[in-house]
Amino acid sequence: MNYTAASLAKLTNTVLQSYGCNEEEARIVADHLVGANLAGHDSHGIGMLPMYGAQVEDGNLIANQTPEFLPRNGAVSVVDAKKGFGHRMALLALDYAMENVADHGVAILALRDAGHIARVGTYSEYCASKGYVSIHMVNVIGHDPIVAPFGAREGGFSTNPVSMAMPVNNQASPLLDMATSTIAFGKVRVANNKGEQVPPGSLVDAEGLETTDPGPMADSKIGALSAFGAHKGSGLGVFAELMAGALVGTNTIAEAETIPNGVFNNMLSVILDPAAFDDPAAIAARTQTYSDYLRRKQPAKGRDAVLLPGDPENISRKKRLAEGVPVDEQTIAQIIEMAGHFEVEEGVLQNILEKA
Ligand code: NAD
Repeated sequence: MNYTAASLAKLTNTVLQSYGCNEEEARIVADHLVGANLAGHDSHGIGMLPMYGAQVEDGNLIANQTPEFLPRNGAVSVVDAKKGFGHRMALLALDYAMENVADHGVAILALRDAGHIARVGTYSEYCASKGYVSIHMVNVIGHDPIVAPFGAREGGFSTNPVSMAMPVNNQASPLLDMATSTIAFGKVRVANNKGEQVPPGSLVDAEGLETTDPGPMADSKIGALSAFGAHKGSGLGVFAELMAGALVGTNTIAEAETIPNGVFNNMLSVILDPAAFDDPAAIAARTQTYSDYLRRKQPAKGRDAVLLPGDPENISRKKRLAEGVPVDEQTIAQIIEMAGHFEVEEGVLQNILEKA
């Protein structure tokens, strides 16, 4: 079923306010989640709501949290999000770090102990909207490691995403935003909810053998995701863990506590002011020229076009704004079920939903 993005945002807002988020926080998180659905990343869209509800119930996700901004050290800003909703905490932390860009041409943010920050590309887009280049490396703690390092049959880190973008006209273009696992864990959940298989090469079973069945992993975390790109992707996942966990001054997954519904993010962000390197307009023009150059390359047999990172999300956004956002029944049922824990009646949510 396809729903209008506006009605999904309203539904998400209502659910988040029942979780205790004030209007502003609910709006920021709802915009983020529906934005992820619009970008085609249903794994980090409104389907996260049941997990956030469970975390709020457990006291592991704090609504309306005030982050702690530690004193700056040169270009480095450290922010402790104290288990606040990661979507809002990360934006506040980036604002704090970016105050520092003018002094150094670069700002480094170490974000500690945030609730789930969801779609990391959102933060590249935010930095690009201010005219900055950015690189973000994230680790994921609170649960058992779910991605097998190269050559292992069991997990050694999580889906540790990496994102980077160039600003062109204050838009992130191109925008790379990827898990270092072959697929994000949320895509296993989405495939399972839809009764679909996951792509070959993205999952191993308990014996380390390849499987395409998302069920055991989605339901009971049996097996592991595979890192993308064999030993190279696995190596990048290791460094996301070290940059965001060890360097940022919090835990790697080796030391972090595992708790029910535990999903927390730490992030190292490098924010670069193009003006410290060259004329920003010239950098943007070269970026655009190179992007166009790549898009003109001959597509491989069976492909319509050569896309840049960020293009699939832009294509999805356009399509879903026009045709609505597909959300499966199971996901809607899970959201309604969790909202019921917070005294929101099913009828209220069903009335908000608007078919596209
Ligand atoms: P993905 O595999 O769909 O896309 C990865 C990148 O490849 C994107 O930049 C995309 O634009 C690009 N891409 C995709 N198809 C392409 C094509 N045909 N040609 C050129 N480029 C193409 O994304 P993913 O790895 O499944 O990650 C999904 C989302 O999950 C991301 O938003 C990520 O930030 C998020 N995530 C978050 C966490 C967390 O803990 N917060 C953990 C893991 C992933």
